[in-house]
Amino acid sequence: MSDTILVVNCGSSSLKVALFDLNLNQLTSALAERLGKQDAFASVPGYSGDIPLAGEGGHREAFQAIVSTFRDLNLLTSPPVAIGHRVVHGGETFREAALINDDVRRAIEECAGLAPLHNPVNLTGIEATTELFPEAPQVAVFDTAFHQTLPRHAYLYAVPYRFYRDWGVRRYGFHGTSHNFMATEAARLLGKVPGETSIISAHLGNGCSITAIRDGRSVDTSMGLTPLEGLVMGTRSGDIDPGLFDFLKTKEISAEDLHRILNNESGLLGLSEKTNDMRTLSELAEQGHEPSLVAIEVFCFRLARYISAMMASLSELDALVFTGGIGENSAMVRIRTLSHLKLAGFAIEPSLNQQHGKQTNGRIDREDSRFKVMVIPTNEERVIASEALQTSGAIRQR
Ligand code: AMP
Repeated sequence: MSDTILVVNCGSSSLKVALFDLNLNQLTSALAERLGKQDAFASVPGYSGDIPLAGEGGHREAFQAIVSTFRDLNLLTSPPVAIGHRVVHGGETFREAALINDDVRRAIEECAGLAPLHNPVNLTGIEATTELFPEAPQVAVFDTAFHQTLPRHAYLYAVPYRFYRDWGVRRYGFHGTSHNFMATEAARLLGKVPGETSIISAHLGNGCSITAIRDGRSVDTSMGLTPLEGLVMGTRSGDIDPGLFDFLKTKEISAEDLHRILNNESGLLGLSEKTNDMRTLSELAEQGHEPSLVAIEVFCFRLARYISAMMASLSELDALVFTGGIGENSAMVRIRTLSHLKLAGFAIEPSLNQQHGKQTNGRIDREDSRFKVMVIPTNEERVIASEALQTSGAIRQR
């Protein structure tokens, strides 16, 4: 097999590598987890069992193991025509995807202070692919780029202005690739032009964020300087009162502890004291487990508040769109959330909601709903592949 696009998504301790053909059909997708730990492993569809990654394998070793398995499986018989990298933070430097060269590498490094867990591993991914495929054009696709159109009133925090001027403290927003895809896909399904389509896009996965998109451009979003702000997430708290920092000093909780607690031990997991997994929480709640029900209630109420907050940035709304593992699959979360928004005029049709809009071009709204409501599966890797192909000019050169 030849003519492939390789997509590399390095998380802080995980790695996803996907292969697409030039029509953007996904050929395969491999995953490595627990990177940097003794029990790091990779799994590749078509290869029996997990691949152990010797010597506390990091991102580089994982990438090499996955590519070598792709080759053994005849999935990658020649170098990819383009490589797309998900890069978490592009600061104010990147408003769109960028062909990687030394300047771009340096700029990604300079943004590392804003995403210390992610940008350095994204760079490792770029180095690892350069070693194996030195000739292939590589493209960085930034989580933050789509949100560079936020107006000043949406991105500034009301803290001393010098924090922004001197240190770049502002709201950047994340999940841009997915929100961008939602805007384009909703427009297509509604028979509209993306640049004339306004939606609220709720990306609800293990990380959650919501974005107001006016005429195809991001104008408000719930994540901020870091991906901790905003909605309740799997293990992240989302919004909290900054006064908590002071209060916890009296409880001998250090800044490092608090960082861990708010990022890894809060959200659905923190509230339920059981799990960050919405599917399990739903089952537990049905069986009468009260803390799981509480976690779901807080999750849905916060989301409803944010949906109405996003309306402040729009003069019209073509559709409210749900995506991500929870947004695409949990009819219960959608119905609970919209039950808080009757005053705003949102209403969904239970039968369409149960089918996740699969037979109705994504639509799940009731006839008398003031606004359309849709479910659209996201595919961040596919968007990265598409951007890699366009930005690298790989098609033009052929
Ligand atoms: P993601 O990060 O997009 O893969 O989403 C992960 C989240 O989606 C987890 O909380 C899963 O429990 C949730 N999820 C996946 N499938 C379902 C489902 N059928 N019902 C409810 N939640 C689901």
